[in-house]
Amino acid sequence: ERALKIINKARSEGRDSLTEIEAKEVFECYGLPVTPTRLARNEDEAVALAREIGYPVVMKIVSPDILHKSDAGGVRVNIKDDAGVREAFKTIMKNAKEYKATANIHGIAVQEMAPWGTEVILGSVNDPTFGPTMMFGLGGIFVEVLKDVTFRVAPVTSSQALRMLDEIRGAPIIAGVRGEAPRDRQALADVICQYSTMILDLADEVSESDANPVLVYESGKGLKVVDARIILK
Ligand code: ADP
Ligand code: MG
Repeated sequence: ERALKIINKARSEGRDSLTEIEAKEVFECYGLPVTPTRLARNEDEAVALAREIGYPVVMKIVSPDILHKSDAGGVRVNIKDDAGVREAFKTIMKNAKEYKATANIHGIAVQEMAPWGTEVILGSVNDPTFGPTMMFGLGGIFVEVLKDVTFRVAPVTSSQALRMLDEIRGAPIIAGVRGEAPRDRQALADVICQYSTMILDLADEVSESDANPVLVYESGKGLKVVDARIILK
């Protein structure tokens, strides 16, 4: 219901993708743990939001015309004080305009800085034969270079999701290697289930989506979605 409202608002503005803030709101409707993220339209708003959220914060460009924010110099992490927020606001705006002069910029997202964790990717595609399908893989070079990912048709049960974690070549990184504590496999499996429910529910609306990265912590400590993307049909 709320998810559809967010989607319909974007459509009414002629867009076929959601901003990170909107996508995180949709994810939240399905119980996915996202970093609290709010939109600032000017420096003063950004400072007020950063204080509310608590330092350190992360700031990112919010524009339907910039889907890969880092490429546009549109992401700053570990901002520690008010002066840092003001400086980041100016720099991100300048970078975005240089990257794409015609970009429609909604503002800058201010969000909680999540602690470091193992980076994984969750995503979905709409398979022409099988319909909404979940993807899981490790982040960074594992997905970009090695294409070390695995797929399941939605809905995905918790035990199927646990098997997905074991299927990738990078599985030992989740299981714990060389004295590194094992990651929270159960939390990750649960989130894969919830994500698969979301894409089934929104099958008529969403063509593809991803949570990239998701930071996964030690067993019992859960995980955090720090970036979200939804492309509409
Ligand atoms: P892009 O649009 O380029 O994918 P991201 O939102 O994924 O932008 O940000 C780039 C990187 O910054 C992420 O891969 C992650 O390492 C880091 N990052 C982003 N948001 C956060 C956050 N809230 N907490 C901690 N690290 C973050
Ligand atoms: Mg990302």
